[in-house]
Amino acid sequence: MKKTIITIIFILITITGCATNDTDTHEFEIVVSTTMLGDLVKQIGQDHVHVTMLFGPGIDPHLAQPTGGDTRIIQNAKLVVFSGLNLETHFSQILNAYEDKTIQVGDMLDKGRLLFIDENEIDPHFWFSVPLWQEAARIVGDALKEADPSHATVYESNTVSYIETLNELNQWIETKVSELENHQKILVTAHDAFGYFASTYGFEVFAIAGLSTEGEVTTQNINLVADVIIENHVKSIFIESTVPQTTIDSVVAEVERRGSSVKVGNELYSDSLGSEIDSEYTNAIKHNVNSIVEGLK
Ligand SMILES: [Zn+2]
Repeated sequence: MKKTIITIIFILITITGCATNDTDTHEFEIVVSTTMLGDLVKQIGQDHVHVTMLFGPGIDPHLAQPTGGDTRIIQNAKLVVFSGLNLETHFSQILNAYEDKTIQVGDMLDKGRLLFIDENEIDPHFWFSVPLWQEAARIVGDALKEADPSHATVYESNTVSYIETLNELNQWIETKVSELENHQKILVTAHDAFGYFASTYGFEVFAIAGLSTEGEVTTQNINLVADVIIENHVKSIFIESTVPQTTIDSVVAEVERRGSSVKVGNELYSDSLGSEIDSEYTNAIKHNVNSIVEGLK
């Protein structure tokens, strides 16, 4: 008798499993590069889309190399969403091959709102400015509507409501950041990912490496950053989720060698979100802002 019940339960699970798979085939297949875009597409597409992220939490998009598996995933997708502005440096060839179904969100943003390093290079880390992320939400929402018109109404209303959620997040950040005095708003990180955060929320930012993690860290850079920390009595500097801690350690050692001290603050999410609750952009940003404000007080 017991065995029969178990068999029935097994059959039921199998049937339910099939039913779920059946609905899966109606989902719209979307490939994204970063975890930030993965969350954005899920917020807007909800259960009408199936999202595959090429770079999981902790993967550095500046360094990621395309694999044969990535090419197959992109081939089978209906829509490909990349961050652009040369963030995914090693994927340009593969993206050119699938140009007709690919959007590169950063390249579609209003150029007047972007940070130009020189006339050819734009800082790609735009997701740290919530107002720019709202613009990104609009771009992704419109791309979903165009690619999958049968759910256009849902995508539109999800886009509008997510932009409102981001409005609330932006207000929360402004309030939180106002707990710091102006002279405390100096952010030292491993690589230059926080330029948009700094310009949006009134910080000065100093990075030990350049805009890409591929850049070299020089002794000169370490000395300059140590100068800034000592002159401004900076209390904490920050490590990042996608960058090894060694460069931050060298700065701490240099500051200590000169008879001063600086703490290492919480790890910040830079070029990838986290896992569990921090796999959502809004939570990861709150984690960063809380860590920065508490570390610099
Ligand atoms: Zn970066």
